[in-house]
Amino acid sequence: MQVKYLTDLATLVSLCKRRGFVFQSSEIYGGLNSCWDYGPLGANFKLKVKLSWWKAMTRRTDIVGLDAAILMHPMVWKASGHVDGFSDPLVDCKSCKTRFRQDTAMVDGKVICPNCGSKDVTEPRNFNLMFQTHMGPVADEGSIVYLRPETAQGIFVNFDNVQVSMRKKIPFGIAQIGKSFRNEITPGNFTFRTREFEQMEMQYFVKPGTDMEWFETWKKTRWDYYKTCGIREEKLRFKEHGPKELAHYAKAAFDVQYEFPMGWNELEGIHNRSDFDLSQHMKFSGKKLEYFDEASKEKFIPYVIETAVGCDRLALAILCDAYREEVVASGDGDGDTRVVMGFAPQFAPVQVAVLPLSKKPPLQELAMKIRDHLSQKDYDADYDESASIGKRYRRQDEIGTPLCVTVDFESLEDKKVTVRHRDKMTQDRVAIDQIETYVKDKLANF
Ligand code: ATP
Repeated sequence: MQVKYLTDLATLVSLCKRRGFVFQSSEIYGGLNSCWDYGPLGANFKLKVKLSWWKAMTRRTDIVGLDAAILMHPMVWKASGHVDGFSDPLVDCKSCKTRFRQDTAMVDGKVICPNCGSKDVTEPRNFNLMFQTHMGPVADEGSIVYLRPETAQGIFVNFDNVQVSMRKKIPFGIAQIGKSFRNEITPGNFTFRTREFEQMEMQYFVKPGTDMEWFETWKKTRWDYYKTCGIREEKLRFKEHGPKELAHYAKAAFDVQYEFPMGWNELEGIHNRSDFDLSQHMKFSGKKLEYFDEASKEKFIPYVIETAVGCDRLALAILCDAYREEVVASGDGDGDTRVVMGFAPQFAPVQVAVLPLSKKPPLQELAMKIRDHLSQKDYDADYDESASIGKRYRRQDEIGTPLCVTVDFESLEDKKVTVRHRDKMTQDRVAIDQIETYVKDKLANF
């Protein structure tokens, strides 16, 4: 079978809009640059992306979860280095007036405008990426608070609370999912870089001296996780940060990159943050953030291995990777080309669609009964009765539904339905009273 994978983002953007995955924010007002809304299918899909990460992290005995507030004490961002150092060098092109990041437009040591190619650009100015707002009724210097630019700091400032309340022994980790905000100079590429996004971060606290070993362990663990996401392995790679690219807090860093249609780009960062953050918060807050090791009677400030991935970015990678156009033999569905979102079943927004062959009431009733039953058993089950069965298969293929259950006239007699497999397009005749077990088994072994 001939298969064509995604080669341009525009095709995906259009599918996402047409099928209710992602819409432009405030579209009826002309949209707001780089802001996106997840539609009904997208919201469910994104929830599943989060759930997959959350389970991979918190079902371990050595990692616990956290949900910290977005607004934090302003001193947090002083201590973390964000107030003074979280900035990008901003440059304006004198010819076409495009504004861009200097570090992303360097060619052979020269800055070249990404829009018109001119070398006539302004000197760089440092632009802080944190969004500011004011807390309380008076908007003065003293009331400034920031929308967090990363979720990690909520974990560091709660290190002691979590360790004591959960009686955690080192090594242990804290995982968190939440919104972050960065006033990016050049957002774009659909949901790849936005100013409001969700992060899934895990900070793993270890004894100094064991940090590089844990760093390697986490690289492997995260690679294995991506394999479970159904992403083609050849589309993933590690990229090490050279000494010049390392962030101020990092001792070592690797990115997990995915080959998006616009090229290889960061999906996740794995960092050895040393004891930088806990030491800074100790200094600025005056509170002890040390760990006492009962066994060795040693006191130390733990080192931190961080794994940080954007939820929206992982969702985008999964969407890009799932997209395919297939030329199929006639006999299944409508027409001979189909678009399939080949999601791993755990990410499919609809897991099973129940389709009555015609709009005759006995078929509708039976189909709805099967749908309701599957829904009660915790499956995302859809019901669709409009258009030909071929068109309905194609619709479900396009949103990545792994299984379609068709109820026909014979079903009323033999109490069986036809189940069609999204990828293989094979069909099985299954007894209605066995449908739940069948669906469970097929989804687990898709
Ligand atoms: P970049 O170099 O691309 O700006 P970063 O290295 O600053 O990203 P981190 O601070 O390590 O990114 O953030 C961890 C993860 O959060 C990134 O790997 C990415 O998946 C996600 N992320 C960061 N910034 C954005 C953004 N503006 N939009 C969407 N996701 C983002």
